[in-house]
Amino acid sequence: MKSSETLEQIIPGQVFKTEVSTWAKRIGVEPKEIRLRLMKSKWASCSSNGRLTFNSEILEQPVSFRREAIVHELLHLKVPNHGKLFKNLMKTYLFLQQGGGSK
Ligand SMILES: [Zn+2]
Repeated sequence: MKSSETLEQIIPGQVFKTEVSTWAKRIGVEPKEIRLRLMKSKWASCSSNGRLTFNSEILEQPVSFRREAIVHELLHLKVPNHGKLFKNLMKTYLFLQQGGGSK
């Protein structure tokens, strides 16, 4: 919410795409294409042929927000809906990333 914070965290598209690729390997999916463009009403979309498009405004969002959006879209290459499996996988990957393990 603090603008000074988000400004510092703006990252170029290339870095973002590398982030997505890294996550894709971790999750075990291969997006055909990763694109960034300005979107009006959502942060990302995933087409059935494996193309991921992210709203370029996501580059201005905090790391944790980006991570969630990235994992969300990549998981759709595995699970097309938002069912129980999807939610469990979301939790698993995001929890692992936080360096959790106490539970
Ligand atoms: Zn979704």
